[in-house]
Amino acid sequence: MGQISKILIFDTNIFLLGIDFNLIKGTIFTTPGVIKEISVEKYTEKNRTILQRIQVAIDRKKLIVKKPLKKYYDEIERKSLLTGDFNALSKTDKQVITLALELKEETKENIVVYTNDYSMENLCLQLKLEFSPVGKKGITGGIVWEIFCPFCKKLYDPTQLDRLCDRCGQKLIRRKKN
Ligand SMILES: [Zn+2]
Repeated sequence: MGQISKILIFDTNIFLLGIDFNLIKGTIFTTPGVIKEISVEKYTEKNRTILQRIQVAIDRKKLIVKKPLKKYYDEIERKSLLTGDFNALSKTDKQVITLALELKEETKENIVVYTNDYSMENLCLQLKLEFSPVGKKGITGGIVWEIFCPFCKKLYDPTQLDRLCDRCGQKLIRRKKN
């Protein structure tokens, strides 16, 4: 892996944003579990396009799908028990973090985990793994979106765009975070 200058690790939700991989500098890594999750998600029309893009990116070696080593997975399980994130994280989530830890240890490259999941971010923080929450534009243009309710101002996770506020029922909108 000598030529790789930057490694981006994507979780399922980041793929579901429908990012154009050609706009991304660096090599993207993810786990087989993530690809499997995208394949079984229900809204098929949108996901068909996403899966096609994933296949093209794999063929061009822009995206590498790798199952993490067990020794690192065991370490992630131990660590997530300590931080209290164990129950909040699925096996797929843990494998994504595991892959980040493994690549950091084995390649010494600049690794960034892309996720909008609070528990994943927290675990990354504890493991000193760099992470970034993203909206669709955030990942390519450096813009980070904030999703909020225009009525009661409650803030939401970026994956909640197009949903309704659980407090007052307003349609959520987004604004630039910085
Ligand atoms: Zn509201």
